[in-house]
Amino acid sequence: MRKYIVGNWKMNGTSADLKEIEAIATMSTSYAVSVDSALCIPATLIDRATSRLPEFNLGGQDCHMNVSGAHTGCVSAVMLSDAGATLTLVGHSERRAGQNESDADIRGKATAAQVVGLKVIICVGETLEERDAGQALDIVLGQVEKSVPDNAASDWLSIAYEPVWAIGTGRIPDDSDVAEMHGAIREQLVGRFGADGNNISILYGGSMNGENAAMLLAIPNVDGGLIGGASLTAAKFEPILAAAAKSC
Ligand code: PEP
Repeated sequence: MRKYIVGNWKMNGTSADLKEIEAIATMSTSYAVSVDSALCIPATLIDRATSRLPEFNLGGQDCHMNVSGAHTGCVSAVMLSDAGATLTLVGHSERRAGQNESDADIRGKATAAQVVGLKVIICVGETLEERDAGQALDIVLGQVEKSVPDNAASDWLSIAYEPVWAIGTGRIPDDSDVAEMHGAIREQLVGRFGADGNNISILYGGSMNGENAAMLLAIPNVDGGLIGGASLTAAKFEPILAAAAKSC
């Protein structure tokens, strides 16, 4: 499977950063022969960034499950698509925790995005308390089961396993724990969706950077990465793409 490397800019970026988005897009084309890449940027920048970079995959970080209506402050999947986005994240742990999003909400958002033709990355992951209590597998597999829609298919869905305690902390799990979790997610996807479950990309996210990417991307069933901090500049993002290209 081709590696899929996706940056998540979170709530970072104004018009002054359009140049950096352009630099990332230009740099990414050098790896496009073997690596798929994308950048999920603030909704306010999508229209301007996609106008400048129509060939590069730019996405949102969330979407509402409804098309339109009385949802002050929210952005629908139709709006993302209309602005030129080709993908969106849903269910990032910062939204599950900060906005109290449930698995049912995330499933609705994923469906709304798929209906308008966006590719979707559903994020899942356990907290440190859950891992320490030996519940990581149960929690994550439960999130996958409840947040992935029944019509999931590899041509539009990816999963990102992101241990909450690894996001933005510089800590990463042992490679055996990553292998166990990705293997269990794969098994569940194949059990539910048959052979196509083998083609659904399972990304690892949480403090991935240029130094640890080669090791993480070599773990079985790690089909790519979702990267926060190290996606903010082309200089930091490039070594991750280079590691992905080498791992093919
Ligand atoms: C993320 O935001 O999804 C993420 C993985 O962040 P970081 O790479 O900074 O840990």
